[in-house]
Amino acid sequence: MIPKYRIRCVGGNEIVEDISLLSCSHGHDSLVRTEYCCRKLHLTSHTGIYRYLAWLPVIAPLLPSGGPVTFTSNELSRELGLTHLSISFSGYFPEREAHLTTGSFKELEASPTMQRLQELGGKIPVIASAGNTGRAFAELSARCKRPVVIVIPKKAVPRLWTTEPAQAIFLVAVKGDYSDAITVGNTLAAVPGCVPEGGAKNVARRDGMGTVMLDAAVTTGRIPDHYFQAVGSGTGAIAAWEAAMRLLDDGSYGNRLPCLHLAQNEPFTPMVSAWAARRREIIPEVDMPDAMNCIGKVMSDVLTNRNPPYSIQGGLFDALQATQGHMYGVPNAAGTDAEKLIRDTVGIDPDPAAAIATAALVEAVEKDIIGPDDHILLNLTGGGYERIREDFTLHTVSPSAIMRPDEPREALAEQLTEWIRHHG
Ligand SMILES: *Cc1c(COP(=O)(O)O)cnc(C)c1O
Repeated sequence: MIPKYRIRCVGGNEIVEDISLLSCSHGHDSLVRTEYCCRKLHLTSHTGIYRYLAWLPVIAPLLPSGGPVTFTSNELSRELGLTHLSISFSGYFPEREAHLTTGSFKELEASPTMQRLQELGGKIPVIASAGNTGRAFAELSARCKRPVVIVIPKKAVPRLWTTEPAQAIFLVAVKGDYSDAITVGNTLAAVPGCVPEGGAKNVARRDGMGTVMLDAAVTTGRIPDHYFQAVGSGTGAIAAWEAAMRLLDDGSYGNRLPCLHLAQNEPFTPMVSAWAARRREIIPEVDMPDAMNCIGKVMSDVLTNRNPPYSIQGGLFDALQATQGHMYGVPNAAGTDAEKLIRDTVGIDPDPAAAIATAALVEAVEKDIIGPDDHILLNLTGGGYERIREDFTLHTVSPSAIMRPDEPREALAEQLTEWIRHHG
């Protein structure tokens, strides 16, 4: 049988034989990427993201599944004076057929990741998250009753709800910040039966998010000229670039990559700063001085990743360079105005990050960085939380363990081993 895809190391260009690896075995500082044998994008009859199963690194769909939706808003187009503005919405907005019940595009990553791990032997993913990612994996676990390990800062526990009672979540609440959660997560990922989820290095995650670009191209019939998104890690933007490259190769959607227009939230804008200098390295003292203080001031905390896959081969710097990209630093005030604009025109409550992306589009229009007749895709990466609360009963997840970051973790690892015996 011809395999559906191969994995290639972007930096070394070699095929990676073990498709379960998150990086190549030659030590290249590089992402690995899927290469689908099917160069034409064939649509399936499945719903949500599995309509694009042909270009997802899984064999079977994990259903039911929501997906990104692409539509136009005459009100927003008119307000901005744009003739070809498309919106991609990843969240909950039933009137628009948007059914991601965790409210963000993290669900596009979680679903193929869970499915792929199952297909590759059933290891349990360990996810360290401060918010939307943890919730997406929690929801998927509740829905398909597969085990996950989630490590979050204790203060984020109230944000970790699901729309069905969860039965197979080992939740660890750490009395510390996101970085402390990552440290504890690393310990737990080494427990036999578990694997680190992998973040940007995980091809299932990127190809899941790539469906935003696929859905837009299929809906509008072409690759957009410009793509707008707010970035924290940049994984979603890398995914959009990779999906656009596949569409180029398909040949039916145009012959030019979209220009990436990516936004961060002032005052925390490390990638804006590094890209302004056209520098591949992020220098903490230069690009994110006083990081903790700045992180405390933004309206969208999902955009505050301190260790993004920017420098790595195949990462965000390469994506910006390949597409002649722009980066925007958006202050909270502009974000708040954009949030109101989306509510008034599109008719949904956007995630703060989606408001930041919209503010970048407003700036690009005002500064003539884009033309009024250009084909534009605005990625509203989350929203509809108010409707989710109306339409669903939300279940919070109780922690299996609460710990300090400096506590020894042997007992916790043993507790997890025991838990796996019952849930694995
Ligand atoms: C995580 C997130 C982002 C940023 O995505 P990255 O892939 O980390 O750049 C944007 N919007 C929402 C709603 C998110 O949850």
